[in-house]
Amino acid sequence: MKTLFALLLSLLASVTALAQDQNRQPYAPDRRPDEGAGPFRRLIIRGATVVDGSGAPPIGPMDIVIEGNRIKEVRTVGYPKVAIDPKRRPDKGDYEIDGSKMYVLPGFVDMHGHPGGTEQGTTAEYVFKLWLAHGVTTVRDPGSGNGLDWTVHERDRSARNQIVAPRLVPYVFTAGSMWDGGAIDSPEQARKFVQWVAKNGGAGLKIIGGGDPVYDPDILAAMIDEAKKLKLGTTTHLSQMGVARMNVLQAARLGLDGMEHWYGLPESLFDARSIQDYPADYNYLDEQHRFGGAGRLWKQAAPPGSPKWNAVMDELLKLGFDLDPTFTIYEASRDLMRAMRAEWHERYTLPSLWKWYEPSRQAHGSYWFDWTTADEIEWKNNYRLWMTFVNEYKNRGGRVTTGSDSGYIYKLYGFDYIRELELLQEAGFHPLEVIRAATFHGAEALAEPTGKKPELGLVRAGMLADLVLVEANPVANLKVLYGTGAIRVNDETGKAERVGGVKYVVKDGIVYDAKQLLADVERLVAAKK
Ligand SMILES: [Zn+2]
Repeated sequence: MKTLFALLLSLLASVTALAQDQNRQPYAPDRRPDEGAGPFRRLIIRGATVVDGSGAPPIGPMDIVIEGNRIKEVRTVGYPKVAIDPKRRPDKGDYEIDGSKMYVLPGFVDMHGHPGGTEQGTTAEYVFKLWLAHGVTTVRDPGSGNGLDWTVHERDRSARNQIVAPRLVPYVFTAGSMWDGGAIDSPEQARKFVQWVAKNGGAGLKIIGGGDPVYDPDILAAMIDEAKKLKLGTTTHLSQMGVARMNVLQAARLGLDGMEHWYGLPESLFDARSIQDYPADYNYLDEQHRFGGAGRLWKQAAPPGSPKWNAVMDELLKLGFDLDPTFTIYEASRDLMRAMRAEWHERYTLPSLWKWYEPSRQAHGSYWFDWTTADEIEWKNNYRLWMTFVNEYKNRGGRVTTGSDSGYIYKLYGFDYIRELELLQEAGFHPLEVIRAATFHGAEALAEPTGKKPELGLVRAGMLADLVLVEANPVANLKVLYGTGAIRVNDETGKAERVGGVKYVVKDGIVYDAKQLLADVERLVAAKK
C-alpha cells in the first residue's frame, strides 16, 4: 500500500515536472543595437521634477547626472517658473535629455511578476517589453515557473544588458517538481531543497502552504529556517488546502518575511470560527467555488478595530512582516466586465493569452462558469475590508509593496501593474505612498533578506540608474502611467487627447523609448492575429 502511494506521488511529481517543462518558453532574443541608448559616460536629465521614491514630495527643477549605470548627482538648479541660471548646472554630458516637462521617478519594482510561458502563449520578449514600457525595471519572479535555470539565465542576460528586460529576481515555488532531489516529505528534505535553490541561483522561496503537495507545519518551519540561514527571502501563498494548519500569523512567527495576495490573512483574524465557512458542496478544484468562497472570506474575520484585528496587526508589525497584496489580480471578481473589456486588450493582448483567460474548468484563474451579480457584490465588500487592513498596516508603519501577478484573470503585464498602483490609492494610500510602495519599499523588501542595503528604488546619488520619465504628473493622476495614457480634454481644440504614458524608461543607465517598446509589442500581437 505504501509503495503504491509512493509510486502515485512520484507519478504526480513527474506529471507536474512535465507540465512545468511544457510551460517553458524560449529565451528572449538578444538586444539589437537600435534597442536602447547607452549606457553613457555621462548622461544628464535636465530640469526635471523629481519624485524620489522615499515619500518626499515632488521637487524641481533638478538636473540628474548619471555615469554609466549609477546616479552620480541630483542637483537643484533653480526655482519653478524661473529661468535657470546655466552657471548653477552640472557640466555638459555626452547625452542629454530635456526633462523640463517631465516627472522623474525611480524604476518600479513588480514584486509578483510571472514571465508567462506556453500556457499563456506569451514570449519573453512580449512580457519583458510590456513591463519595461510601464516603468517596471525590477521584477521578482515568484515561482520561476519556466524553471529556476531559465529565470537565472535570463536574470544574468538582463544584468549584462544583453536582452531588453527588467532586472529579474528569481524566487522558487516550494513544489517538489522544481528539483530532482525527491519528494519534500521531511524537514531534512525541505532543508536540502532550500540548499539546492541557493546553490542554483535562487534569491528566495514562494512557500506554497497547501495545494499539491500539502506540507506539514514542521516542513514549512524547516524551509523558512533554512532560507534564513542562507539569506534567501521568503514569501507565501497559504492556500485553502493548508491554511487550517498554518495561517499567515503562524507562518510569520516562524520567520517568514512576507506574504502574497490575501491567503491566510483573514484566517489569522478568525475569532468566531476556526475554519472558513465552506458551503457543503465546496470543491477546491472547482475554481468558482474557490474564488467565490474567497469573496466571502473577509466578512468572516474579526472586524476592523476589534481586539483580534488589533492583536494580529500588532504582532505582524512587530515581526516586520511585508504585505504584497496584488489587489489587481482579483479585480475581475468584483467587476468582470471592467477587466475583460479593458481598452488595452485590443492592441496589446495576444490571441493565445486571450484564449487562456476565457472561462475554462482547467485553466487557472478562468472561473467564470456562472459568475453572478451577488458574487461581484460580495467581492466589492471583501475588498473594502481587505483594503482597510492594508491601508491601516501602512499607516502604522508596516511595509506594503506592489505586485501584479499578470498573465491570469484578464490581467495584462505592465498595464495591470499600473492598475495595482491605482488600487493602493483606492485603499487609502496617498499617491506618494503608492510610489514609495512601488519603488523604495519594494527595493528594501528585496534587499533585506540578503543583509545588504538597497541599491535602487530612490532617485539619489549612488543608486543604480533605474528611472521612469513621464511628461505628465503621476502624483495628480496615476493613470498617466498607462501605456494608453490618460484622457484629457484640450480646451484650445475642445477635443479629447491622450496624455502621458511613460516616455523613457532608464534601466541600468540604458535609455529605452517606452513608446517604441509598446509599438514592438503591438507588432508582435498583430503578427499573431
Ligand atoms: Zn503568482
